[in-house]
Order: sequence, then structure tokens, then C-alpha cells
Amino acid sequence: MAKAPYVLVVEDEAALADLLRYNLEKEGYRVSVARDGEEALVVAAEETPDLVVLDWMLPKAPGVEVCRRLRGRQDTRNTPIVMLTARVEESDRIRGLDTGADDYITKPFSMSELLARLRAVMRRIRPGLADDKIVCGDIVMDRAQHRVKRRGREVRLGPTEFRILDHLMQHPGRVFSREQLLDAVWGSDVYVEARTVDVHIGRLRKALMVGEEADPIRTVRSAGYAIED
Ligand code: CA
Repeated sequence: MAKAPYVLVVEDEAALADLLRYNLEKEGYRVSVARDGEEALVVAAEETPDLVVLDWMLPKAPGVEVCRRLRGRQDTRNTPIVMLTARVEESDRIRGLDTGADDYITKPFSMSELLARLRAVMRRIRPGLADDKIVCGDIVMDRAQHRVKRRGREVRLGPTEFRILDHLMQHPGRVFSREQLLDAVWGSDVYVEARTVDVHIGRLRKALMVGEEADPIRTVRSAGYAIED
């Protein structure tokens, strides 16, 4: 078996650091926690992390400085870095700074959203390392095998329904408009009517629900669709 991917969590808030460690270990990652920027650089030098989750507000060296220093080192030059920031405005500001982080997530975040984002980053940068199983409630998607199961039952989906479900499951709880789903699933250069999305959502629901099973997809009137977290 391949060695479990190694994640360095840099977070001074002990409760959040513990929560991150617990959930990441549950996902099968190996985890080290550093409480400040200096410690992060020391720990990262001991064993090169496969991924760094980096808080923006840190004692000693701020997250942005840690990010730059990691980028400047040979062994961590290409290590994916996901920044945690406190507010939406802060994320926007950090984006503008071009710190070299691969993704940003705004506190407070749901653990499933963070894990989905980390999986996406890992997949993009090191396809071999990513866990290709996504779980949402009682639905399990195996992306490598292109299979979906609900409560152990095989769900047969057409390619479009599969891509819609994949997109929704990667961002559990988040509402996507028809236009956003069109862009994500069909691509922005293809002309497809927005109503087509409704048709495929209908087919997806039908495939996912057998008998009395609850509808996992939430319709938000005049806004779009989301999968329950
Ligand atoms: Ca902090």
C-alpha cells in the first residue's frame, strides 16, 4: 500500500487544530500540527508535507510569510498550500497579494467542505495520492471506478448526471445556480439551455431515490441546487 499522504496543519487555535487533526486522520492522512509560523518551517523541513493547511493569523511568522518561505524552498516549492482565513474580505485581500497558496477557505467552514477542497487540491497536483472516494450522507462516489452507491445499492447514472453529482458532492451544502452547473458540467463555451439542467437533476433524483429514500438534492427556489451536507 502507498504511504498515507502527509498533511502539515499550521494553526495556533488549539481546538481547531485538534478538530482538523481528528478529521484528517479519519480521512486517512498522516498529520502533524505546528502552532506557529516558525514551528511550521521547522516541521516542514523534517519531512516534506504532501499538503499544508495554513492559518493566516499566526504568532511569530504570519501565514503569508510562512507561505512565501515554503515556496522559496526547494523541497516545498510545489507543495499544495490551503490557507485558512477569518473573513471573506480577508480572503479577497490575500488573493490580491498573490502569496502562492493553491486555495483559500474562509472560517467558519464545515469540515466536509474543507475535506472536499483538500481532496480537490490533492487530485489536481498529485493524482496518485488523492482518495477518489467522496461520501455525502448515505451516498458514496468512487470517482476512479466511476461508480455511485447509495446505502450499498448501486446507482446507475448517465455521464451528465454523474458529472452533476460529482460537482455537487465536492461542495456539499453549497447552492449552485443552473448557470454555474452548466459551466461546471458542460463548460462555458457550450450553449445549453438552463432548463436542461432541471431535466438532468430530475433524472439524477430518480436514480438516487428508490421507494421511500429521502431526496438528497435540495432545490433552492430561484437560486439553484445543492446536495445535503
Ligand atoms: Ca490563528
